[in-house]
Amino acid sequence: MTVESAAQAAYLVAALLFILALAGLSKHETAKTGNAYGMAGMAVALVATVALAITRNVSSLGLILIGVAMVIGAGIGLWRARVVEMTGMPELIAILHSFVGLAAVLVGWNGYLAIEGGADPAEAAVLIAQGTLGIHHAEVFIGVFIGAVTFTGSIVAFLKLSARINSKPLMLPGKNFLNVGALVVFLALTVWFCLSPQLWLLVVVTVVALLLGWHLVASIGGGDMPVVVSMLNSYSGWAAAASGFLLENDLLIVTGALVGSSGAYLSYIMCRAMNRSFISVIAGGFGIEAGPADDKDYGDHREVNADQVAELLTAAKSVIITPGYGMAVAQAQYGVAELTRKLRANGTTVRFGIHPVAGRLPGHMNVLLAEAKVPYDIVLEMDEINDDFSDTDVVLVIGANDTVNPAAEDDPTSPIAGMPVLKVWDADNVIVFKRSMASGYAGVQNPLFFRENSAMLFGDAKDRVEDIIRAL
Ligand code: NDP
Repeated sequence: MTVESAAQAAYLVAALLFILALAGLSKHETAKTGNAYGMAGMAVALVATVALAITRNVSSLGLILIGVAMVIGAGIGLWRARVVEMTGMPELIAILHSFVGLAAVLVGWNGYLAIEGGADPAEAAVLIAQGTLGIHHAEVFIGVFIGAVTFTGSIVAFLKLSARINSKPLMLPGKNFLNVGALVVFLALTVWFCLSPQLWLLVVVTVVALLLGWHLVASIGGGDMPVVVSMLNSYSGWAAAASGFLLENDLLIVTGALVGSSGAYLSYIMCRAMNRSFISVIAGGFGIEAGPADDKDYGDHREVNADQVAELLTAAKSVIITPGYGMAVAQAQYGVAELTRKLRANGTTVRFGIHPVAGRLPGHMNVLLAEAKVPYDIVLEMDEINDDFSDTDVVLVIGANDTVNPAAEDDPTSPIAGMPVLKVWDADNVIVFKRSMASGYAGVQNPLFFRENSAMLFGDAKDRVEDIIRAL
């Protein structure tokens, strides 16, 4: 068996491992195994690719460069994975997407320089003989476009998620016209490039795509960022698939398509969770004006201390905990798990209600709770638990805000109107853990805090949960 055919077989195995990885990652119980499949698949793919490179007469300098790149990449990857906080995960993912985009741009440009640019006449002759030169033109152009949109879009997402720039949407006049205009220019230039590939066309499409990516994400803000993150995830997959076509690498095509389609499906799920259509997310507008809702007088809020909450919990028969981004910031999940154990030992029914966009990345809360060993069977999705709040004695809202905001249901003028939320206010008592009266990610005030059955427990969520455990 030649190295070439062995590598193709290895690619097939790797592709299967990636499919198993995705299947595993779709459930808590199998997520770890899913990750292991993914790592194994990537190891197989890397070994096969390096082996292929060796047989294809790569110079020794080329091999040294591959080795150096792998060592540096692996070193940075290991370091980042070890030090990243769970709260920093979304921005890390965003910046990783930007690398995929950049790689696709570089691969596209390289493809142009080799074939259309005349650096590899032998390969160009092969394509002409096969009659696939036109396809190559299209692959270069489309690959560079998707890659460049992903690159700058992901950088803006990184800057927004890490609060390095304001998450408020950029509102250029005629922004939808600009986006649609850029797409029309891209389509026209693609046709032109396929008919007559010229360097300046590639330069123009690269610049247009870089600007489009930047503008697309800069003009989306507030509550729509979850969809943007999963959308960029999808783009990065298509960018990788485009590179796969150019490099004639089947595994890259398969893997790119897997990432692209699973990201697209995730975007669909997130849109459904936010009660939004994909087009309306791109067109923007959600969470834009923190406006009218904020000027209203909601009355006074009530404060409680940890001892009072402990008393309330001791008397309660049923408790639901709805965690949000603040639990991740405070790293309160271990205390929350301990509190859950204590209450359950006391005969209290404790369950968790998880909003699909709680936290800053899909599944954020589930990961934190699993890390703290909260049993999976008491962690329920919003739709599974939303009708049960009315039969609940106490709800603990731990660092959540937008996801428990009644204005989404009651106030059609609210920027988050229409987003499905956890109906915590239906319970007898609602305790909100947060540090101040500040608004959540979408920047809108939360009338829940001023309801009669609500009380605020101010302070860092981890400290307050520990105070309650002590008081119990
Ligand atoms: P929010 O961002 O609405 O609110 C979090 C709250 O936690 C804040 O009001 C903050 O109040 C409080 N908080 C912060 N730090 C602490 C702390 N140390 N201790 C106690 N409280 C703290 O969170 P939700 O989870 O309810 O909603 C998620 C939001 O993020 C949604 O708008 C969603 O659209 C958006 N988003 C979600 C993504 C996803 O994929 N899940 C991705 C990007 C955005 P205070 O400062 O007063 O303490």
